[in-house]
Amino acid sequence: MTEINYDDNNIFARILRHELNADVIFENEHVLVFQDKFPQARVHLLAIPKGRYRSFDDFSAHAGQEEIVSFFQAIGDSARHAGLTHGGYRLVSNCGKNAGQEVPHFHMHILGGEALGPIISQHH
Ligand code: 5GP
Repeated sequence: MTEINYDDNNIFARILRHELNADVIFENEHVLVFQDKFPQARVHLLAIPKGRYRSFDDFSAHAGQEEIVSFFQAIGDSARHAGLTHGGYRLVSNCGKNAGQEVPHFHMHILGGEALGPIISQHH
């Protein structure tokens, strides 16, 4: 089941329809992993489900088990393939307003290739 309120014109929906280019590093039936266009670490990948899910909240509430399993396996495989396992890496998903989610299609950031610093920037 997917969200009714999904914006089909968001950037990642357009990448999935091949209307916009992306530097794809992994793809299967359920998942696409590609390079972030504005990397915030030496390695910065984005993993997205192919289903129409607006956020982690939507995905975790409505995606099927196969989609969820496939998504997390693809993240692990991609991180391993990118050589991130030894040095370690960070997974981040911004969900909604407080987290500053900009693209309303669920995505997981995969960040690594260098020491990443504190998990939350000092904002107080
Ligand atoms: P958010 O802020 O929603 O968690 O993350 C959105 C991410 O999408 C950002 O890291 C941003 O750099 C990335 N991004 C925005 N536009 C594009 C694009 O056109 N192509 C790719 N590959 N990444 C994008």
